[in-house]
Amino acid sequence: MALDLRGLDPRKRIASLFLTPHCDMSCRFCASETDFAVMSFDEAASLLSALKGRVESVVLGGGEPFLWPNDLEKLTCFAADLGFQVQVCTNGVNLPVGFEKIQSISRYILPLESLDPSLHDGLRWLRGGGHHGLILDRIRTLVQAKRELTLSTVVTCENLPGLQDMAEWLVAEGLSGLNLHAWHLYRFLSVGRGGAPNGQELAVDRDQYQSACRALKAAGLPFTIYQRDDMQRASTVEFFWFEKGRLRMGIDLARDLVEPGQT
Ligand code: SF4
Repeated sequence: MALDLRGLDPRKRIASLFLTPHCDMSCRFCASETDFAVMSFDEAASLLSALKGRVESVVLGGGEPFLWPNDLEKLTCFAADLGFQVQVCTNGVNLPVGFEKIQSISRYILPLESLDPSLHDGLRWLRGGGHHGLILDRIRTLVQAKRELTLSTVVTCENLPGLQDMAEWLVAEGLSGLNLHAWHLYRFLSVGRGGAPNGQELAVDRDQYQSACRALKAAGLPFTIYQRDDMQRASTVEFFWFEKGRLRMGIDLARDLVEPGQT
């Protein structure tokens, strides 16, 4: 399958692939939608081949990429062999035994919404609960394996007050071996299967969000903080998915994808 990526903005250094819309969680802020296709292995491999030489890094995500039925580990090997830095953005629930040893994955991107288990689990719904404890276990396993990771937090009105405590905890964990590449702070948007219905109760004041990010960035923390006012737009990231056998890319198209359900 030959894919034409001539429209790709040359400033984009990172390609984010939506492999599957399926997920085993129901996060109240989820910005993902359900109406895109599960990528076939051939589609994903063709896309990665077309991206070679155009971007440096790929993020394999979803939905939940470890629920992708077409062999995620094989795809990470394929991407690594093409020379990409390979990141996997996962909720951490269905990681395979030995996930910390998979060398074709350069870095995991894991979510942490709060140090408070009830607040985190109240935002991230997992059947049976306990996602907060599970994520801390995943982080500890990666620390023990001396693997680098990125954390992501969706900032809502509920967890905004705890960001400073989280930063202090991350610094302390860093002294104990946590190799944190970056902390992404995504401002909650009222979009997607979780965010649209919960827009009013989770909405965060933009000024308060920006002020909190400014304070954290000014604190000189030993890791990079990425402020993401709009999680669906980033100057260096492009998003890719398949719909009815057609490759789609571009954030405006992504907005087309989410907006019909919000009216
Ligand atoms: S935000 Fe939650 S529900 Fe949405 S894809 Fe990620 S883990 Fe699944």
